[in-house]
Amino acid sequence: MKIINKIREMQQLSRQWRGNDRRIGLVPTMGALHEGHFSLIRKSLEKTDITIVSIFVNPTQFGENEDFNQYPRDFSRDRNSCAEMGVAAVFHPPNQEMYGPDFSTWITEEKLSRPWCGSARPGHFRGVATIVGKLFNATLPDLAVFGQKDAQQALVIKRLVRDLNFPIEISIAPIIREEDGLAKSSRNNYLNEDERARAVAIYRGLTMIRQLYEAGEKNTQILTDKVKREIAAAEGSLEYAEIRDQRTLELLTQIDRPAILAVAAYFGSTRLIDNCFLP
Ligand code: AMP
Repeated sequence: MKIINKIREMQQLSRQWRGNDRRIGLVPTMGALHEGHFSLIRKSLEKTDITIVSIFVNPTQFGENEDFNQYPRDFSRDRNSCAEMGVAAVFHPPNQEMYGPDFSTWITEEKLSRPWCGSARPGHFRGVATIVGKLFNATLPDLAVFGQKDAQQALVIKRLVRDLNFPIEISIAPIIREEDGLAKSSRNNYLNEDERARAVAIYRGLTMIRQLYEAGEKNTQILTDKVKREIAAAEGSLEYAEIRDQRTLELLTQIDRPAILAVAAYFGSTRLIDNCFLP
């Protein structure tokens, strides 16, 4: 497995692979790899000939008071996991390779990135869209795999690919969960034992809403109140719990079309997100 730190070198290698008619898959990550990431890697390995995993903790998608400095980093463990799985290359550029000192060009998606994490984390999706565009240009993939765990990010990236005509297929892989239902996340590492036990309230809330919805409740206020109460009872601090149109993210009062419920909540100082489709 190759470890590549330079954009030029990555592009040369990808061009060579493409010249030999190999289909390239990219799995963009910020490292501290877990089963969620591995499922994306497996999907790329199945669907393409060559899988590239990028590991880059992208500073521009973190707010000023967010966890960029504490974000878990374990490159040697991640590299070994990738090698064992059959990844062809890990793209692991240093910050200065991705952002020169006078970097000044950004990609901003202006509709789907407004609500939810967009309003809670100003600038977040500008950072995400920009780095994903740059990773596409560095690795030249035919396919890129993202997780449904970051539902809004998946929508923004599909829109970016459509609007800016990136010739790349986007594949979205389902959410991988712990045994008790908590969505796997690199940030789960921050939770102490008590917070970890309480954090499962998010999944409990999502499951309750799903059941209520399936029993016929379509009023989004009634449904989201349930998840809010569940999280409050577990002493979580809710950032948002909203049901929106699955495609446009328009806020819904009644579920009269495919919808998505998304939740963000803090347990201690750890911010967790989760979501589910309705139906
Ligand atoms: P991250 O390293 O957190 O930026 O995540 C890299 C990719 O892995 C993103 O496309 C995430 O949506 C995806 N991902 C993270 N956690 C999970 C999970 N529990 N299940 C599925 N995909 C995930």
